[in-house]
Amino acid sequence: MPKVYNWQLGRDMAYPYEGAYPERQFAFVFNINRCIACQSCTMACKSTWTFNKGQEQMWWANVETKPYGGYPQWWDVKILKLLEEANPEGMSWDEGAAEDGVKRPYGRYAGRTIFEAPPASLAPESSRVLGYLPSDEEWNSPNIYEDNPVGSKGQEGKLHPTGERLPVHRTWFFYLARICNHCSYPGCLAACPRKAIYKRPEDGVVLIDQEQCRGYRKCVEACPYKKAMYRGNTRVSEKCVACYPRLEGRDPESGGQRLETRCMAACIGQIRMQGLVEVTADGTWTEDRYNPLYYLVHVARVALPLYPQLGTQPNGYYIPPRWVPRPYLRQMFGPGVERAIERYTFPDRELLAVLQLFRRDNRIIYRYAIEKGPEIYRTTYRGRPLTLYNDTVIAYGENGEELFRTTVEEPLYERPAPLQNSI
Ligand code: SF4
Ligand code: SF4
Ligand code: SF4
Repeated sequence: MPKVYNWQLGRDMAYPYEGAYPERQFAFVFNINRCIACQSCTMACKSTWTFNKGQEQMWWANVETKPYGGYPQWWDVKILKLLEEANPEGMSWDEGAAEDGVKRPYGRYAGRTIFEAPPASLAPESSRVLGYLPSDEEWNSPNIYEDNPVGSKGQEGKLHPTGERLPVHRTWFFYLARICNHCSYPGCLAACPRKAIYKRPEDGVVLIDQEQCRGYRKCVEACPYKKAMYRGNTRVSEKCVACYPRLEGRDPESGGQRLETRCMAACIGQIRMQGLVEVTADGTWTEDRYNPLYYLVHVARVALPLYPQLGTQPNGYYIPPRWVPRPYLRQMFGPGVERAIERYTFPDRELLAVLQLFRRDNRIIYRYAIEKGPEIYRTTYRGRPLTLYNDTVIAYGENGEELFRTTVEEPLYERPAPLQNSI
């Protein structure tokens, strides 16, 4: 099997095809600390792409409550169990391996990925990738276990005597928003015997050719994130299309500008930012210091890939929730968790400014700049000094045009008198 370089694992990895990388890659960062599970993203996708007959159980975008929730039910527990069986020595990271910038930011993964599982563990035998096919029941209830916490119980009718405090809550849950990760090494694409799945060279979006697909469901089985889905009435598989008409600037309302996807644009909690990043000949990210996604993933290092050990090199990144027990988060986001939470808890001036860029506009941001402002607040937080400055952050588009500017202190708008009661 050919070898490809997986920078999230810090090593070469077996993959059924030679590496081939797009000019730019669709990528996104979700800040879990801010998600309120309003499901506006879920419904924005549903009402745009999957409202037809045969798509009733199809949620390309979903938000699930961890640790118990999942769509399809138990998807991550099940794939992790299979991967654990394929890794009798453990799914461990070689913590001693030196980090090496964008080429190896999290050390080295010493275990096997879904592409490297021993053939004996693949079922059925025709499978190329470790996976499983969820049952119909598992696709039925996208919101099961919503808001169900895990941890110590309070006493009925009484307030908790101490309440919960950071750095970790004893009783916890969090919302995990998910879409297809438009992976650099997609499991769905690797498994398709018809070669019906392809990755676009211009933006790395992974699509299923509806004419080529014969509904064998190998992609459904092989996508570890379970984001390829089967449609019974047409007998072909479908998946998130990254709202490609918006990405291409063909949305009638965009005026030719590239827009972020529907699920990003609808986000009430302002947790989402999506863009396009440049990649090099081996799939690592080209240095682009002032692209906000590059900054969050490779400079501030607050945003981490979801289950990198699966090996698909997903292009969705998450700022992990601060209150959750670290072993759970390490399993989900890899060894960068402690550093990411530390940086997010004590943000420097630049990080605080970049975090203001989330959802101020629907156009894709290619670059940002910061103009320094005055000190506005000074405090001590958990024993450390923290100073806030009202800096201005400016977002630029594809051709260097200014898209918008905003400040660290949230701008205050006073409604004109005739509109005072309007919402
Ligand atoms: S998340 Fe799944 S469906 Fe999406 S590209 Fe990756 S393997 Fe394919
Ligand atoms: S990117 Fe578009 S198609 Fe994909 S989940 Fe979001 S709204 Fe749906
Ligand atoms: S719209 Fe945003 S805040 Fe609401 S559930 Fe989706 S990701 Fe979370």
